[in-house]
Amino acid sequence: MEVLIGSDAIQSRVREIGRQIARDHPAGVPLLIGVLRGCVIFMADLMKSLPIPHEIDFISVSSYEHSSQSSGTPRLVKDIGRDIAGRDVIIVEDIVDTGYTLEFLRRTFLARNPASLKTVALLDKRPRRECPVPIDYIGFEIPDRFVVGYGLDFAERFRHLPYVAALSPEELLPQPTARSVGAA
Ligand code: 5GP
Repeated sequence: MEVLIGSDAIQSRVREIGRQIARDHPAGVPLLIGVLRGCVIFMADLMKSLPIPHEIDFISVSSYEHSSQSSGTPRLVKDIGRDIAGRDVIIVEDIVDTGYTLEFLRRTFLARNPASLKTVALLDKRPRRECPVPIDYIGFEIPDRFVVGYGLDFAERFRHLPYVAALSPEELLPQPTARSVGAA
């Protein structure tokens, strides 16, 4: 595992993004919609860095499951439970890879007539982009590596790490399950 972005760098960049979002929303109460589950740590830190009133909600989109490859066909697994018409909405993503998930979410929310729709992504894996989707606030651009930590997982592991790290190809091989450990 190779650390790509240290904890201090993440914290100071998230504080900057919070200040930037606040400057861009001098009036009104933006609604931050986090994309579960990778967004959770970023969302919590962003909220603490956002010195204006705001609300939060969460959605869940089907994605990688137990693989490191995107399926390219996102599906809304859990929707928000409120009307966003007339609201200033900000989608909070952990990472934008091919761009299909964010594009799908933008289309989904634009159809609900928000006053404005912006996007924030902690990580932008730009070399992998297939769908040219606009991102208003970007934490860091990263190379084409599979990353974990700061909310991002591989097979539900590594979310708790306070930094962002890239896994090596060997580390991306199928991991032993609790059931297979110790089996002959
Ligand atoms: P996209 O639709 O842009 O290809 O993929 C977006 C989703 O794929 C992200 O929200 C995230 O769940 C997952 N993803 C993409 N790249 C990575 C990565 O390097 N590490 C992890 N843990 N998830 C990733």
